Amino acid sequence: SPDKVINFSPGPTSLPKSVENEIAASFTKSGFTSLALSHRSPEFIDILDKTTATLKRVMDIPDNYEILFTHGGGHGQFAALPLNLCHELSDVATYVVNGTWSARGRDEAQKYCNAETIDGKDPQTNKFTHFPELTEEDINVQSKYVYLCSNETVNGIELHRLPKLPESRKHIPLVVDASSDFTTKPIDWNGDNVGVLFACASKNIGHPGLTMTVVRKDLLGEGKASPLCPGVFNYTTNSEAGNLWNTPATFNIEVVGLLMNWLAREGGVAANEQRSIAKSQVLYDVIDNSNGFYATPVPNKMLRSRMNLPFNIKGGDDTLTKKFLIESWEAGMVGLRTLTPFGVGDYLRASLYNGVTEEQAKTLAQFMITFAMNNA
Ligand code: PMP
Repeated sequence: SPDKVINFSPGPTSLPKSVENEIAASFTKSGFTSLALSHRSPEFIDILDKTTATLKRVMDIPDNYEILFTHGGGHGQFAALPLNLCHELSDVATYVVNGTWSARGRDEAQKYCNAETIDGKDPQTNKFTHFPELTEEDINVQSKYVYLCSNETVNGIELHRLPKLPESRKHIPLVVDASSDFTTKPIDWNGDNVGVLFACASKNIGHPGLTMTVVRKDLLGEGKASPLCPGVFNYTTNSEAGNLWNTPATFNIEVVGLLMNWLAREGGVAANEQRSIAKSQVLYDVIDNSNGFYATPVPNKMLRSRMNLPFNIKGGDDTLTKKFLIESWEAGMVGLRTLTPFGVGDYLRASLYNGVTEEQAKTLAQFMITFAMNNA
C-alpha cells in the first residue's frame, strides 16, 4: 500500500506523514483554503504572516533578516544573487565550487557578474569529495559576496556548520545555497555573516514551485540591484511588497507553514539535527562495516552528508546494483536510484530529508545488511 512505501528520493519527495495528512485534510476542509484564496485576501495574508513568523522562530532568524518567497527554484536564485548583489556586470563574486550545484550556481552567475572560482576539488584525486580551506589569498577583497553550497545533494558533501571567512574578508557577506539541508541544523545568522541563504522547497520544507530566500536587510535598498534584475527576482521589490509584488505560490507557502509547525512540535531545529545524525549514522555504519561490499565516495567523515548518502555496491557492479534496486523496491523502498544528468557513476543514493523517520532509515540499514550477507 502507498502508506507503507519508504521514500528515499533526492527530491521532490515526501514530507513528514503528519504534514501530508494536514495537506490532505485541507482539500476537504470547509471554507476557503489557500488553494482558493486571493493572495491579497486577509485570510491568505494571515497564512503568510504565520508562516514567516514560525519560520523565523524555529530557525532563530533575527529581525535584521527578511524572508522572501519567490518562484524560480534554486536556479532562479543562481541568477537572482548576482542580479541583486552586483550592480555592474564587472562586479566580482567569489564562488566555492565543490560539487554539482555550486558549479551550476557559478555558471549561471557568470552571465551577470565576474564570478571567480575557488576550486573545491580534492587536490589529490581531482574529484568533488572535499571542501577547501577559505584563505585570504583565495578571496578577492572586492567580492560582493562569497558563495557556497552547504549540502551538495548529488555528491553527498555537507558542511555541518558554516565556515568562517578570514578576518580580512569578514566584511564580505556569505551566500548559502541550503536547498537540501535547511531546517536540519542550526545557523548562526549574524555570527556566520550570512548575507543571503536560499532553499528551493522541494526537499526538506515543501514542494517545488516556491523558493525561500533569507536576505540580510542591509543588502536591500533602492538602486543596489543591477538595473537588469527582473522584478520577480528583485529582493528589494519583493520585500517592499511584502511578498505580494506578483502572485506568490500561495498553497506552497501554506505547506511551508505546516512544515515549520511540525518542526516546532518535534523539538525544533536542535532535535531535528539529532534525528538527522541518527538517521545517517545508521547507514554510514552499515557502509563502513561492510568490508568493502558498500562504499561511499566521501572519505572525510566530517564532510559526509546527513541528507544524501551516495553509495555503490562492490565498486559499482551492475548486476548487483540492479538486483539491489529491484529487491529494495519489492520491500517498499523507492527513490534510491541516482538519476542525474551529472554523471556521478554507479552510485546509488539514499536521501534522508524531513519526510524520512529514524525507523525508516533503520529499515534500509537492515535491508542493506541482509543484502550484503546474501550477495557477498
Ligand atoms: N541547489 C541544490 C543544493 C539542489 O539540491 C538543487 C535541486 N536538486 C538545486 C539547487 C536546484 O533547484 P531547482 O531544481 O529548484 O532549480
